[in-house]
Amino acid sequence: MTVHGGRLALQTEGHGQVVDLTEGVASVLRASGVAQGVATVFAVGATVAVTTIEYEPGALRDLQELLDRLIDPRGDYHHNRLNRDSNAHAHLRAALIGPSESIPVAEGRLLLGTWQQVVLLDFDDRPRRRTVVVQICA
Ligand code: ZN
Repeated sequence: MTVHGGRLALQTEGHGQVVDLTEGVASVLRASGVAQGVATVFAVGATVAVTTIEYEPGALRDLQELLDRLIDPRGDYHHNRLNRDSNAHAHLRAALIGPSESIPVAEGRLLLGTWQQVVLLDFDDRPRRRTVVVQICA
């Protein structure tokens, strides 16, 4: 197996900001020259996640509201009490969604649906610099 690597560096505002990574992942794939394989996308950090969704305001707001119902930012959390921290909800949201996705590659293209974008979600409660590791395995 050959692994081609790339990294995406980005600045986010946190608070659930969603960033479309699709073009960044596609550019790492193009640079690799790989026709057939798998692209893995992994966000580094315990309060950030990667998933796929239709990148349009309605779906993004629906996801934000779902997470607000499931994991209340103002809840009473052990992490916050034990560590005098304020971002327990961000850790829980990141753990629930997960830090990575694997996307099949064929004919040099990501096999994503037309309305399926790869996104980073930054749940932390402050602006962050983020690194996303993209590996193309062939
Ligand atoms: Zn924390």
